[in-house]
Amino acid sequence: MVYDVIIIGGGPTGINVAVEAKKAGLKYLVIEKGMLVNSIFNFPANMTFFSTSKNLEIVDIPFISHTDKPTRKEALEYYRRIVESYDLNIQYYEPAERVTTDDNTYVVHTAKDSYSTRHIVVATGFYDTPRMLGVPGEDLPKVKHYYDEAHPYVGQKVLVIGAANSACDVALETWQKGADVTMAIREDSIYEKVKYWIRPNIENRIKEGSIKAHFNTTVSAIYPQNVVLKNTEGEWNIDNDYVLAMTGYMPDYDLLARLMVPISDDELRLPEYDAETLETSQPGIYVAGVVNAGMQTSKLFIENTRDHAERIVRAIAGK
Ligand SMILES: Cc1cc2nc3c(=O)[nH]c(=O)nc-3n(C[C@H](O)[C@H](O)[C@H](O)COP(=O)(O)OP(=O)(O)OC[C@H]3O[C@@H](n4cnc5c(N)ncnc54)[C@H](O)[C@@H]3O)c2cc1C
Repeated sequence: MVYDVIIIGGGPTGINVAVEAKKAGLKYLVIEKGMLVNSIFNFPANMTFFSTSKNLEIVDIPFISHTDKPTRKEALEYYRRIVESYDLNIQYYEPAERVTTDDNTYVVHTAKDSYSTRHIVVATGFYDTPRMLGVPGEDLPKVKHYYDEAHPYVGQKVLVIGAANSACDVALETWQKGADVTMAIREDSIYEKVKYWIRPNIENRIKEGSIKAHFNTTVSAIYPQNVVLKNTEGEWNIDNDYVLAMTGYMPDYDLLARLMVPISDDELRLPEYDAETLETSQPGIYVAGVVNAGMQTSKLFIENTRDHAERIVRAIAGK
């Protein structure tokens, strides 16, 4: 059996491609290494999307949420509904490991099996690979690159690293629930693109001293009971129980190489793809969703990548 298309990644993008492939009558399969919309399941438990539910809608299925911006829980429900309504062909808990090619077909090798296909869509996102600080002590269990909820940090001295949306959200939520919060911020201000409803809140908490913030400051080492901070004047210690390193994520480049996705060798490390069809310079292999932004992860999100699915399926079906 040779598939028309194998979609690697069952996130919002992979699901969208699967729906379009099904509508176009293609023989398709989605391979997902974890559960349905694995990244969204692992987002902070109480998170609210910055997009409106209308702007996250795909195909013809309305996304109903209680307020204009949906919660993580509502998004999980939405994607379950799409999979159920379209009866999508998805295999869960099956990581794709590598791709090989044999003339005009590809073989996707997973942890469980191998599948032949004419086309591949790589929609693996970026949420599985945190950007590391690269400092001593980063491997201590008290250092987290993913944030779930505030409760474990009640009464704890928490250092939040970063100044973008996630860092500001985490600093505010942990402070509100009773953590003693300090922020270490590499730049001289809160990131200018922080959402307009979050930015004044965090700036005012910093101004009134409820949340301590060290600007132009980096972390140079982490120890079980303290953290060493550094600026141009020198280094100093602060007492610390937990480090929440909200420094962002990046595509898994080792995986992309094994999936035969060509990558630019400049610092943006962009997948090399055609702007219209999203086919990479490796014929028959396409990239879709947020992975397409390479290291510029804040450029693409669900909202502005919803057209990827239709463009790719049109290109494949047209061949
Ligand atoms: C906290 C947070 C809030 C966000 N809020 C918004 C928002 O409000 N609006 C918006 O538009 N965007 C938002 N984004 C950005 C965007 O929603 C997410 O990045 C979104 O999940 C991207 O969809 P995707 O399908 O491209 O990638 P992902 O959702 O990351 O999906 C990739 C999938 O590929 C799977 N995968 C990875 N490797 C393999 C493998 N080897 N084999 C098989 N499967 C694999 C993963 O398990 C995952 O399910 C937010 C991101 C974050 C982190």
